[in-house]
Amino acid sequence: MSQSIIKSWIELTGLAAVVGSLIFVGLELKQGQDVAIAGQYQDRASIVADYYLSRLGSEHLIAHLGQDFTSSYEANELGPEQTNHFESRGPDSLATNFLHVNLVLVMFDNLHFQFQHGFLTEEAWIPFRAQLKGTLRNPLWAELFRDNTAKWRESFRNLCFGLLAEIEAEEGTASLAGGCEGLPRKENAALSLSAASDDWFQVYETSEGVYSIVEPYQYEESISHLIVGDERAILFDTGIGLLPIRPVVERITDRPVTVLNSHTHFDHVGGNAEFTSILAIDSDYTRANMAGFDHRRIAADFVPEAFCNPPPPGVDLDAIHTRPWKASRYIKDGEILDLGGRRLEILHVPGHAPDATALLDSENGLLFTGDTFYAAELWLVVPETNLDEYEQSITRLVNIEKGVKYLLGAHASARVNSGRLAEVRDAFHKLRSGEYSGTEDDGRLVFIIDGIEFVTAQPVLDGKQGDITKGGSGLETWD
Ligand SMILES: [Zn+2]
Repeated sequence: MSQSIIKSWIELTGLAAVVGSLIFVGLELKQGQDVAIAGQYQDRASIVADYYLSRLGSEHLIAHLGQDFTSSYEANELGPEQTNHFESRGPDSLATNFLHVNLVLVMFDNLHFQFQHGFLTEEAWIPFRAQLKGTLRNPLWAELFRDNTAKWRESFRNLCFGLLAEIEAEEGTASLAGGCEGLPRKENAALSLSAASDDWFQVYETSEGVYSIVEPYQYEESISHLIVGDERAILFDTGIGLLPIRPVVERITDRPVTVLNSHTHFDHVGGNAEFTSILAIDSDYTRANMAGFDHRRIAADFVPEAFCNPPPPGVDLDAIHTRPWKASRYIKDGEILDLGGRRLEILHVPGHAPDATALLDSENGLLFTGDTFYAAELWLVVPETNLDEYEQSITRLVNIEKGVKYLLGAHASARVNSGRLAEVRDAFHKLRSGEYSGTEDDGRLVFIIDGIEFVTAQPVLDGKQGDITKGGSGLETWD
């Protein structure tokens, strides 16, 4: 019922716009051009005049239409933006707004028609096309267009669908481009940028003798930390492997470098094959991951959309893979690594991955947390993730956090003040309580609890775990 009223109003507004465009056509109409078009306009214009005289003046009708429009659209699924739009307006305002949208779209339909029939030059049409695209960026207006597709001329309909596709493609890349515009993150911008940085790696001196090597232009924003002692250095992670990390390390130190990974997901072992001295957790999961990851297993993270700037020149995104690597020695929880004038304690903190490892530099008040914590959305989603283990690990780290000044995670911000782990633990308890509901996103569940964002999946929440002896790249899904 309301739909039929709306349809008649659409027709009405369409005709109203015809009157407007007739003036234009009248001015532009030249000898030899299609007079039939003008005749068609003329017929419709007289009908619209009748409509206006008999119906438009009725305030009562406008209010009635507004109410119908609201209830008819409330029955449909609307995004928050559209719902707010409706909630903040009364029926009169809605009806007027609805008419306005339709008038504008009809005007564009007519302008496009004129352009197609030679009444409008291409030069004159181009700005109108841009305006129409701007109009369709408003989700409510796009919805009104889609809801009334039968009403529009076919060529106009195709034009609008083409523009909507353009907008969608632009917005997909715009969100990533926005990420680049937001770089460096404010925590990183507050640190001093080292001269060892280059076009791909940004190196920050996060503490005396600690260099955090950030890869900001791929959406993971992976961070590898080089911790330099008097005699040797530990490289805690080796990046995503798009460009070699060893030259960066060699610009920072000439001391022997040993690699240790915060865990063996692809985005932390990318440069392992460039090194011969590598420490690893003694587990089947880790050994399986030493075989490297073929292109197929990590391709999703190397599509052009994964980069906010064009990927570095000369890099072949279609061939990228993780090269195999070997452990030179296995390590255990509690072991101390003496770098000369600097001691690091190894903490095996499974949960995010079975071989997740943290490093404690208690003398300097630093805790390197890997993917167990960093200041961005925390991923507890892949089949090898185990929430019972994560619970134990985060609880253990909260106790250690009390004695440190800074947390250095493996993504996003190189260094944040301690205190955040307790917040994560509290939010994590709420996540597991089952009292919160997540938002489904491409088979994942996203929860934002007290400002902490978790990306997880139902099987993980249900306590399931995949076969960890087969390893895992960090990108595998449950199905
Ligand atoms: Zn990671």
